[in-house]
Amino acid sequence: MSVVEKEVKTKTPLIEIKNLSKSFTIGGQELKAVNNISLSIQPGETVGLVGESGCGKSTLGKTVIRLHRATSGEVLFEGENILSLPEKPMKKFRKEMQIIFQDPYASLNPRMTVEELIGEPLSIHKIVTGKAKKDRIKELILQVGLKPEHLQRYPHEFSGGQRQRIGIARSLALNPKFIVCDEPISALDVSIQAQVVNLLKQLQQELGLTYLFIAHDLSMVKYISDRILVMYLGNMMELADSETLSREPLHPYTQALMSAVPIPDPEVKRERIVLEGEVPSPLNPPSGCVFRTRCIHAMDICTKQVPNWKEVKNGHFTACHLYN
Ligand code: SF4
Repeated sequence: MSVVEKEVKTKTPLIEIKNLSKSFTIGGQELKAVNNISLSIQPGETVGLVGESGCGKSTLGKTVIRLHRATSGEVLFEGENILSLPEKPMKKFRKEMQIIFQDPYASLNPRMTVEELIGEPLSIHKIVTGKAKKDRIKELILQVGLKPEHLQRYPHEFSGGQRQRIGIARSLALNPKFIVCDEPISALDVSIQAQVVNLLKQLQQELGLTYLFIAHDLSMVKYISDRILVMYLGNMMELADSETLSREPLHPYTQALMSAVPIPDPEVKRERIVLEGEVPSPLNPPSGCVFRTRCIHAMDICTKQVPNWKEVKNGHFTACHLYN
């Protein structure tokens, strides 16, 4: 049993997502963006969330922290179902849960200085004022690897990586326990992505943070995550610790995603599995297994029956008739 698995089994979850669904109504039709997701996240853990764009990853992240109102299900934060809380008691939990957005430029008000941007959450939640506030802002800017002289500048004066650091400082201002990292590196140059991921790892160690890390680049997710959940068309396909998922993916969709990840060792050869066809419309998902229209192993039963979510090996779950 790996260290992470041991920890996963012994700690009480920080976040417990239970049968969470989120639908939108579009042109009178129901679009199931997130369908019956259940997942526990332990304190200090990073769970990576992967899948092609439009698979519901970001909607799930935003629904967990109540930026979207869930259609059904529960989200327990330290045992309390935050989805049923009125806004006033919810305020305490809003401080504990933050989000880092994909596009650091769009998420920062261009008319505010860095000092104002980082200080804004402190003012809204009336955490500190005056000199204590200035000191806290200075501490935060240093924590993300920028300098106090950057505080009087505006977002357009920074590179993409620096802007994301400002976004991270803002998300840390209220001392959260849980951060949804919503594709925080997707808009950045490859050379900068590793720096931001390393900063997030370092902050996690220093501050004991827990992450839900959303991305479509599996190699980076593999690097930062303890466990990885693979989603397709709003549904859970596979969940395992990141080493097992990389070495031994069970679900045909995960196998295809993994086959596209470059292997650093030139001696190791892996056959590339190219997925044919487009992701079906979530307005009209396939019957049975939602992946069946692109699956090279699809059988009769896959059309008729939704595969069960099953623990195939210790801590390794998948939803596929090949293992039911
Ligand atoms: Fe493929 Fe069937 Fe498994 Fe779906 S349930 S992934 S269609 S084999």
